[in-house]
Amino acid sequence: MASLEELLKMVDEAQQEGVELTQALVRIPSVNTGRNNEPPWPPSGKPGPGESFAEPEVAYDKSGSVPTGDELPAAELIRDKLAADGIEGAIYHSQENRASIVANLRGQPGNARLLMMSHIDVVPVEDASQWTHDPFGGEIHDGRLYGRGSSDMKSTVAAETMAMIILKRAGVKLKGDLKLAICADEESGGAYGFGWMAQHFPETLEAEFAVNEGGGAPMKDGDRLIYPINTGEKGRLEVRIHITGRGFHASQPWRADNAIYKAEEVIRRIRTYQPEVSVDHELFSSLEQLTGITDKPTALNIDEIIEQLTPTHENLASYLKACSRMTLVASMIQAGVKSNSVAETCLITCDVRSLPHQTTDYVQAEVEKLLEGLAGVRVETIETSPPSASTFDSELVDHVAKATSLAIGRDDVEFVPGLTVGFTDSSFVRPLGNVAYGFMPSHPDSDTSKNGAHNINESMDVQSINTITRYLVALAWETVVDHG
Ligand SMILES: [Zn+2]
Repeated sequence: MASLEELLKMVDEAQQEGVELTQALVRIPSVNTGRNNEPPWPPSGKPGPGESFAEPEVAYDKSGSVPTGDELPAAELIRDKLAADGIEGAIYHSQENRASIVANLRGQPGNARLLMMSHIDVVPVEDASQWTHDPFGGEIHDGRLYGRGSSDMKSTVAAETMAMIILKRAGVKLKGDLKLAICADEESGGAYGFGWMAQHFPETLEAEFAVNEGGGAPMKDGDRLIYPINTGEKGRLEVRIHITGRGFHASQPWRADNAIYKAEEVIRRIRTYQPEVSVDHELFSSLEQLTGITDKPTALNIDEIIEQLTPTHENLASYLKACSRMTLVASMIQAGVKSNSVAETCLITCDVRSLPHQTTDYVQAEVEKLLEGLAGVRVETIETSPPSASTFDSELVDHVAKATSLAIGRDDVEFVPGLTVGFTDSSFVRPLGNVAYGFMPSHPDSDTSKNGAHNINESMDVQSINTITRYLVALAWETVVDHG
C-alpha cells in the first residue's frame, strides 16, 4: 500500500503526462457556440421582391436551441487515456455529437465518497488574429500553456484524469467510490451535459462530496496565502422585455409608434437600476481576514468599503460588489425587419445574476416594478440556472484545506468561503445531495490574472496542472482511500 508521499511523488513524475494530456485536449476544438435560447428562425415579416433573409449560420432544432460543442472527440480521448491504465470510462450522448464521460474507481459498495467534476466544452474564439499564439495549438511559452480552454477548464480535466490514473496505478484500496464526470455543454448552461446526466443518470454523479471549478485562485498578502473555497453560486436568468409599438411605412414615421423609440426609456431604467444590497453571504464575515478592514460590513456601508478597496484591490472590490447584489444588464436587442418599415416590436434581452436567496418570482417582480407605467411592455423571466449553495460548515472544508496544504507543502494556508458569481455545473449535483465546492487550487506563485478565461490569449501556468493533480490525489487520500 503506497503512502501519500509516494502517491504525490508519482504525480510529480507524471507531470509531463498531465501537461501533454492538456495540450491534446486544447487541440480538440470542442467549441460551444452558445446559441441556445435564440429566437426561432425565420423572423416574422416577409422579405421584399428580390430580397431574402440571410440564412442562419446554424440550424435550430424545435426547442430553438442548437446542437453545438462537438465534445465527442475530447470524451473519446479521455476514455482511451483511462483505458490504457485499465479504467473503464462510459460515454453518454445527450445528442449525436454531444458527449460526456464518467468513470468510477469502485470501493466498498453503497458508499460513494467523492466526485471530481469538470466540463469539456469551451467558448468560441471570436478573432484568432488577436491571439499571440494559436488558440487551438496548445503551445507552451514561458511556463504557460496557451489555448482556448487551457484554464477553463481542460487543465482540470487533465488533472482529474491523471489523479484517477495515479490512484489506479498505485493500486490503492478505496473505502467508497471515487467518481469522475467530465461533461458537455457547461458554457451554454449544461442542459446537454451535467443537467442531462443529473436528470437521466443521477447515480453516476451521486457522492457525498463533489469538487468542481469556481474557486482556487491564490490571494497573497505579504507572507499570508489565502484561498477562497466557493461554496455556492449565483443564479442565472434571462429577462426578455417585449416592447410593442405600431408599424407604418417609414416615409411617414409620425403615423407609427416606433418600438425602437419606446425602447429608449426601458433601456434608461435598466441602466440606472439600483438593486437591493445584501451582505448575507458568509464570505462577508471574512472581510477583515481578507482586507484588514475592521468595519463590520452591512448593506449600508458595503459600497463605501468597495470604493475604498478599488484603487488597491480592484479585482476583490469588483467581486464583493457582484456578491452583494443581483445584476441586471441588457445584453441583446432586436427590432425591426426592414429598413423602410418602422419597427413594430423590439425585444431587449437582459442577463440577470441573482443572489442565492432570490427566486425567479422575485426577479420578475423587480423588473416589472422597474418598468411600471410603461405601455406596451411585457416582462418574461426565464431561469436558466437556479442559484445554489452548499454550507461552509461541512467536513469537506477540512478535507479540502488539508489536501491543499499537502499539495503545496505549506501548513499556514488560510481559507475563506466564496461565492461563484458566474454559472458552474455544481448547481446540478447539489440537488442530488452532494456537498459541492468550486475549488481547484492554482500554484501559490501562479498569476491567475493571466488566465484569461473566455478572453484572448487564454492560458494556464503549467505548474498549476501539477498542483491541482496533487490536490486531487491528496483529497482522495483524505476522503476515500482506505489507509489500512
Ligand atoms: Zn468553466
